[in-house]
Amino acid sequence: MEMKFENPFGVDKKRPYIIAGPCSAETEQQVLGIAKELKDQNIDMFRAGIWKPRTKPGSFEGVGALGLKWLRRVKEETGLKVTTEVANRVHVDECLYHGIDALWIGARTTVNPFSVQDIADALQGVDIPVMVKNPINADLKLWIGGIERIYKAGIRKIAAIHRGFSSFGETNYRNAPTWQIPIELKRQFPDLLVINDNSHICGRRDILKDVAQVAMDLNFDGLMTEVHTDPDNAWSDAAQQITPKVFGQLVRELVIREKGGSTEEQSDLSVLRSKIDVLDDELLRILDDRMKLAEEIGRYKKAHNISILQPDRWNQILVKSEKKAENLGLSVEFINTLFRSVHQESINHQEEIMK
Ligand code: PEP
Ligand code: MN
Repeated sequence: MEMKFENPFGVDKKRPYIIAGPCSAETEQQVLGIAKELKDQNIDMFRAGIWKPRTKPGSFEGVGALGLKWLRRVKEETGLKVTTEVANRVHVDECLYHGIDALWIGARTTVNPFSVQDIADALQGVDIPVMVKNPINADLKLWIGGIERIYKAGIRKIAAIHRGFSSFGETNYRNAPTWQIPIELKRQFPDLLVINDNSHICGRRDILKDVAQVAMDLNFDGLMTEVHTDPDNAWSDAAQQITPKVFGQLVRELVIREKGGSTEEQSDLSVLRSKIDVLDDELLRILDDRMKLAEEIGRYKKAHNISILQPDRWNQILVKSEKKAENLGLSVEFINTLFRSVHQESINHQEEIMK
């Protein structure tokens, strides 16, 4: 579906747009205290969760509609715009009633088309910015589908929030960034603002800055970060929150590069890009040659009744390519992934022949 978006922040400024505030609104004093300190850090919008989707029952599930009054006080006393998470039509109605400036749909809601549609129906004919977080699973179509449902309700001020994807097992991240997904979203919808939620990607403080910098290097339009005046004692997501001062420092230290560059820089780049194009063509030709050879081997194996997978041979290829990669200064992990994929594809071609 073709979509034409408007800027949900209502102002055109140089990137990045900054949304910050606690994971959860806890008390009126906590919310106001954080907002006042963040006001001094020049943020564009204040966030706080009122209804909290928690993994386990019994964890702090948010203060509920009461917190909307606190957000309204934040608006009155700091002039900041305020946003909170909605997961159903009742939340939407409460937020509209209390004059909340923007809504976001959480990752656990974007996965469920019924819920997103419920929210979209409640928003029919309303003009309020809506930010759609990626679903918890790495499914770009589902993310786009969620955005389309909101768009079809007539909302044009939409942004996407990249908060990473859930995966099994221990990783460096709480939610893997899987950058290809937001990159592809941006490729398909160039005028859709994409905000990076480094807090829920990292799950911890020490790598927040690195992830934010990657997002800026990838031309993301903004950041949503969880900030708390007493992070260690936050009622939810304590390990990933930072103080307003530390956050201000993080933002000031980000290197923001130009999106396009001057005409001269563009032309320098296009020379380099055309060299890349030549190499990419060559890569494709080489892969095609390799598959043809694999098929020839497949025909030979078939004629002589030899099995497709020869573990010793495959192991040799892997070890040899890793050693060569290391000598060339290429990432061993990357070459390993690449060769596994190429090998799998060769097997697929041979299986076609064996049939
Ligand atoms: C949040 O922003 O506090 C939140 C619950 O995030 P997510 O939906 O990304 O888990
Ligand atoms: Mn959180």
